[in-house]
Amino acid sequence: MTEELPLPGLHNNGAQDPDQWAPARSNRRDSYGCTRPEVGDLVAWRYAAWLVHETRPYADVDLTDKQRAKLDASVAHLTGEKRDLAYARNRPFHLVLRHHNGPLIIKPGEGRGFIRLHDGTREIHFTSWPHRNQWHRLPDPYQTCSCHGHPWPCQEIDQAVLTQHQLRKMDRLMATAQPGVCAHCLEPISTRQKTVTFPEESRLVPGAPGPTFHAGRAACWGGAEEYERAGRLADNPDVVRVASCPGVRFIHEQHGMPADQRIECSAGPFCTGLHGPSGYRQEAPCWHRVELAGNEGAYARPGFDCGYRGRGGGCIGGDLSGGGTSLSPVAGDLLWEMQQRRRGILP
Ligand SMILES: [Zn+2]
Ligand SMILES: [Zn+2]
Ligand SMILES: [Zn+2]
Ligand SMILES: [Zn+2]
Repeated sequence: MTEELPLPGLHNNGAQDPDQWAPARSNRRDSYGCTRPEVGDLVAWRYAAWLVHETRPYADVDLTDKQRAKLDASVAHLTGEKRDLAYARNRPFHLVLRHHNGPLIIKPGEGRGFIRLHDGTREIHFTSWPHRNQWHRLPDPYQTCSCHGHPWPCQEIDQAVLTQHQLRKMDRLMATAQPGVCAHCLEPISTRQKTVTFPEESRLVPGAPGPTFHAGRAACWGGAEEYERAGRLADNPDVVRVASCPGVRFIHEQHGMPADQRIECSAGPFCTGLHGPSGYRQEAPCWHRVELAGNEGAYARPGFDCGYRGRGGGCIGGDLSGGGTSLSPVAGDLLWEMQQRRRGILP
């Protein structure tokens, strides 16, 4: 079961951080945001509408060393004319916004950045980097909430949606602790179905017994594996596994191999055999490098070379380098961690 759910139904997660807020899709002039708003545009920022009062490119002498380094880094991969074009395109500009409508959300320590003009108007200045900063321009007229007349959705609406979402999440968590129910799909478990049950108290609902998952359903097994890797193993890497193997399974492609040797787990003697129902995660072919760290050479491979040589490449098992194999008994765990990181669940 995935703990860190994305927030479905939320326009954004502005309710947690106003800088993450964006106007609703139907309330934007550009679907992908705008890197260079122009004077007179209304841009949406922290739940409010702001009028672009001034934009001014940075002259070379205005750039600090740090800014120049940042600009250089943004074009470092380019050469010649392309580099010059990108240099001009990525150059930051001053953006002066005047408060138009909506709340004035000031974070601690930011007060000085908000200037109050003679007529009481608030003004803020930004250094905007076209290759980094996207602004959401509001259409004319733009949608407002009926409660405050602020750009849609307003802060209060986001808070309400977030609260509702957290309640739903809590309901779901409580449901996972119902006896006789699979903690992933929340369906009742029949006596004929294979299950996996965690021996310790539930990590999701305090005081509840360890959750049970369908062991024969790929999605439910995935939930159990996630529960184990994300929680149980993080607490105690030596705990006896019930729903995961530290290794990656490879299938040797050589014809005529005995069936029991064709599938090999990179964890070798540490294989728990807990790789899930068939079809859950397919075995990698033995000529396939399972990248672990994205760095050259950091990959898991089977322990022996079955002799398979095909068009796509040969078996990469065994010691090919003369310097030992790069087998890692925890390759499966590392791979899982990488996937979680890509999905933004792990830092
Ligand atoms: Zn409102
Ligand atoms: Zn299930
Ligand atoms: Zn092979
Ligand atoms: Zn294994």
